[in-house]
Amino acid sequence: MSLDPKFAEVRQHTITTLSGANGAGLSCACPRCGQGRLFAGFLTLQPRCERCGLDISFADSGDGPAVFIMFLAGAIVVGAALVTEILFQPPYWVHAALWLPLIALVTLGRLRPMKGLMIALQYHHKAAESRFGQGLEQGLEQGFDQGLDQEQEEP
Ligand SMILES: [Zn+2]
Repeated sequence: MSLDPKFAEVRQHTITTLSGANGAGLSCACPRCGQGRLFAGFLTLQPRCERCGLDISFADSGDGPAVFIMFLAGAIVVGAALVTEILFQPPYWVHAALWLPLIALVTLGRLRPMKGLMIALQYHHKAAESRFGQGLEQGLEQGFDQGLDQEQEEP
């Protein structure tokens, strides 16, 4: 397996630790090198890392980030609304003025880091679908090997 020379230098800085993967994910960086940008848009992924050439098409976080954010934001906002209601009994418009902006802040601001974290953990733990007719370990190995081979075939 030969490396593209332009990626060889960056490849030497491959992230191998779980804390490194967590840091790269939370900072929305490439899960392999930790230097390239992960996102092309707000939640749209780059097709491949601009620094190390990693094909990011393996990444499928699905609804995972949104579910974690919903649980977290629900606990924070509902808890704060209950405490406010019990202590101050404000009119309903005060609740709307307080909690609607907080919901937007707690959900939209956390989606990108959470999606980056889940993709980094997926890459770090080599999480992928099993291949039919193969053992789990063998299928995972082949899936990631195919992903690595594809990035070298293209110019
Ligand atoms: Zn990279």
